[in-house]
Amino acid sequence: MQPEKVGKDVVVSLQYKLWLDDGELVEETLADEPLMYLHGHDNIIPGLERALEGMRVGETKKVVVEPKDAYGEYDPEDVEEVSRAALPPELKPEIGMVLTIVDERGRSFDAVLTDMDEDSITLDFNHPMAGERLTFEVTITGLRAPSAEELAHGHVHGPHRH
Ligand code: ZN
Repeated sequence: MQPEKVGKDVVVSLQYKLWLDDGELVEETLADEPLMYLHGHDNIIPGLERALEGMRVGETKKVVVEPKDAYGEYDPEDVEEVSRAALPPELKPEIGMVLTIVDERGRSFDAVLTDMDEDSITLDFNHPMAGERLTFEVTITGLRAPSAEELAHGHVHGPHRH
């Protein structure tokens, strides 16, 4: 059966635009490539997921999400200085570049290089949208039931995804 409203275990397709508080448009779905996700499985930021609950196909809504319900507050402790001697020799550091750091347990983290001098570089491990209040305009374009496999995995198997 076709679900009527956005709710737990429903596959939701939506179009959205995303603005930051300064008015900058930072993300926008393409007309033929809506975002598709399985509702109720932490696949999107919690503030947006809550706001979509109960929406129907064709409905449009403006949603404002505070940082704590989006990518978290900016944490100044999440910034580290790294000695240049610890860097791979082939790396040419540049401000603004994104580096993937792997820790001793094999987990990887993205960091933005925000500063550097002769001896060291500064890496910011905060999410690029940490501390930002996000304004979305969303339109629900489709709802369907998940396959048994999608439900077991907790995510959607679209044409371009696993
Ligand atoms: Zn899967």
